[in-house]
Amino acid sequence: MEVIIKRSSRRKKTIQARMVNGDMEVLAPANISDAALKDHVSRLRARLEKMSTSRDDGHLETRARYLNEKYFQGSLAWASITYSTRQEKRRGSCTYYKKTIRISHRLSRMPQWVEDYVIVHELAHLLEPNHGKHFKQLVRSYPMGERAIGFLLAMEILGELELPEGTGGR
Ligand SMILES: [Zn+2]
Repeated sequence: MEVIIKRSSRRKKTIQARMVNGDMEVLAPANISDAALKDHVSRLRARLEKMSTSRDDGHLETRARYLNEKYFQGSLAWASITYSTRQEKRRGSCTYYKKTIRISHRLSRMPQWVEDYVIVHELAHLLEPNHGKHFKQLVRSYPMGERAIGFLLAMEILGELELPEGTGGR
């Protein structure tokens, strides 16, 4: 990430940063000292980089462990949970016998509570391969489920889970 500094005599006090084509543009007052500016820039940079941190498979593993404790009394065990780019029409999948879970990479760009719902759904498949009554009971323990389904359906209608560019993520 390049840092482009633009000083302006019209700017009095505030320093502003924005992303321009992947570079950070810093708008600063003309009279600010180099030392003070350097300090500001490093903090702004850290904040921007944190915002664009992409979720990876390690993130999924961490979320799955947390959700397992919270909604399944830590009773579940899985072989792997990973993002997949081959789930074009699906949110996720779980192979009941191999205990492997795949989550659509598109979920990595969704709000955490939406991704969590999909993880809970796939975790529940470790116990119940079908979408029957028992399965629904398991999934219902996640309180944001209905809202997450609404969010996902809206996203799918708007363009098959494709979020607009610039929303961060992978
Ligand atoms: Zn399912």
